[in-house]
Amino acid sequence: MNLNELKNDWIQDFANPMIIAGPCSAESESQMLETAKRLKESNAEISAFRAGIWKPRTKPNGFEGVGVIGLNWLKKVKEEFGFKTATEVANAHHVFAALEADVDILWIGARSTVNPFTVQEIAQALRGTNKPVLVKNPVNPDLALWIGALERLLGQGVENIGAIHRGFSTYQKTKYRNIPNWQIALDFKNQFPNIPLFIDPSHICGNRTGLAGVAQEAFNVGYQGAIIESHCDPDNAWSDAAQQITPEVLAEMINNLQVRNSDI
Ligand code: PEP
Ligand code: MN
Repeated sequence: MNLNELKNDWIQDFANPMIIAGPCSAESESQMLETAKRLKESNAEISAFRAGIWKPRTKPNGFEGVGVIGLNWLKKVKEEFGFKTATEVANAHHVFAALEADVDILWIGARSTVNPFTVQEIAQALRGTNKPVLVKNPVNPDLALWIGALERLLGQGVENIGAIHRGFSTYQKTKYRNIPNWQIALDFKNQFPNIPLFIDPSHICGNRTGLAGVAQEAFNVGYQGAIIESHCDPDNAWSDAAQQITPEVLAEMINNLQVRNSDI
């Protein structure tokens, strides 16, 4: 089977657009529950609650994620607020722990997509599961590497897959943290029109002001979803503070997005 033969009907179980929101990192049980409570109360149409448990940080000796204890907090978010949950997996141990804790959606981060050994290890650990798995584009602008990661998942029988466009790193100073390089994502979309494509405006922008514009640009060209970082106290977030928004600001942003009718 190849990527264009996939049915991709897993996404029908979620709202259109499918919005995944929550903090960059799980920090504490109270931060997770407070963020989830406010996302719920804001009535934003959120399909799943995200939080990174294992954090791929650029430099050592900083906050590298709370680890497996965060899986209990995701469970509580699901039990108390009814959200599906999502987290990043970067090796086979993460996969086994996340499957054991019944996390609903997994994603492979941009720093993992670049490494075929890592992706292969993750794909093998996922063999035979029907969890939705989303693959972020690699940090470098390499379409084949992005597609290759999806093919490695499919090669292990993982058929409920999607792609996340989170931008590409650059040494140039730009208004973006990771330049969108829209053409790469559009080439992806043209080649695999049926694979659900998500926008990650948070990691593209690296700030709060650009988020709505980037998300809208993606929905204008028919992306099916978005993953957006939201924190109960963004200024004091332990990672990616500059780009996180409160649940209330997120709700307003989502309400103002126009989704292309032809894709509904
Ligand atoms: C994240 O989603 O918090 C993250 C680390 O993203 P990326 O892999 O896109 O850098
Ligand atoms: Mn982040």
